[in-house]
Amino acid sequence: MKILVINCGSSSLKYKLFDMNNDSVLAEGKVERIGEKDGIITHQTVGKEKVSQIKPMPEHSAAISECLRLLTDAQVGAIQDLSEIKGIGHRVLHGGEYFKQSTLVDDTALHQMEELRELGPLHMPANILGIRSCRTLMPGTPQAAVFDTAFHSTMPKHAFLYAIPYELYQRYRIRRYGFHGTSHNYIALRVAQLMKADPKDLKIISCHLGNGASLAAIDGGKSVDTSMGFTPLEGLMMGTRSGDIDPSALEYVMEKEQVPMANIINMLNKHSGLYGIADAGDMRDIVKGVEEQKPMHMLAYDMYEYRIRKYIGAYIAAMNGVDAIAFTAGIGENTPSLRAKICDNLSYFGVAINHEINQQRGEFELSTPESKIKVYVVPTDEEIMIARDTLKLISENNNKQEKR
Ligand code: AMP
Repeated sequence: MKILVINCGSSSLKYKLFDMNNDSVLAEGKVERIGEKDGIITHQTVGKEKVSQIKPMPEHSAAISECLRLLTDAQVGAIQDLSEIKGIGHRVLHGGEYFKQSTLVDDTALHQMEELRELGPLHMPANILGIRSCRTLMPGTPQAAVFDTAFHSTMPKHAFLYAIPYELYQRYRIRRYGFHGTSHNYIALRVAQLMKADPKDLKIISCHLGNGASLAAIDGGKSVDTSMGFTPLEGLMMGTRSGDIDPSALEYVMEKEQVPMANIINMLNKHSGLYGIADAGDMRDIVKGVEEQKPMHMLAYDMYEYRIRKYIGAYIAAMNGVDAIAFTAGIGENTPSLRAKICDNLSYFGVAINHEINQQRGEFELSTPESKIKVYVVPTDEEIMIARDTLKLISENNNKQEKR
């Protein structure tokens, strides 16, 4: 059975077509600069030539239409007819308190997602547009929504509530939601496989360090805490996001600089983090700067590492123990020096790594046999999780209908 996974961002879209008989990728691609007159499309079917085109891409439905055309193209496509695609899985940023797991999309689900728009103003409109466009372009093909927040819906109330008047939670659902849930879930399952253990028996700290970054404390296969909050702004220092900050400092800046809250939030999201300190938001540039002993790059690197380590310590306390720590995403997978610095500074907990093995790429264990806590690098795969959830929901729905 073939499942298409679509991840719609505000001005870009990524897609992957899976053959779920063996979880293999048949084709993948992306469309960038949606909304501009020169959209860039790259597409590759496995075993065929990679194609790249520049075309006007006024909005998301034009982008999805182009993906579907490429997937069925006689030369570069992966399938002959769109009817071969039995389901479409969409990555959706925010499930709020409505969606504690993935769901098949119907009118009610779409309506609820519309209500959650304002909780994710940067991503939700594009996520919803993607779903609506597929409904128009492929009517009758089941679609599933897989939420970045859903995996964290198991957090206990004492972890997800902010210590502000409780009425604000009751009235507006102000709370920690957490993000990167699909990735953290994948990491927890994969670490359990690598440890040949049942996820139910493990305490894991998953470190998703990409352009956005979050940690999750996963106890018995369930998220019990995570560093992102009501929005993806809270928690770790990120590429361009500040992470934790005292809100009073923001009021102070607003008054001193005479700027509105919207500017402050924009500054926290886009001009802070590594970029705010070192004028470089990409960890590759930071690492290069550290090698060249540039003071602000060294400071940004130290701040980035320190915040991760502080959260790891907090999550060991939150779970009263940890069996494994796993690093993933662009920075987590590709920055051995950062992993080494974090792990070497956790020696009190009995963490010990093999520095030579730590230089490897791909999936591997870097802890030594003596280490009290296992440490892994696990390349994340959010798309296969979305495809699996989509397949599961479709099969369950088919079974339900057969029974009727
Ligand atoms: P992601 O959001 O998971 O795609 O991660 C993107 C980030 O990963 C980039 O902004 C870089 O900071 C970082 N990154 C990607 N490749 C490398 C690399 N080879 N070495 C260090 N950092 C990298």
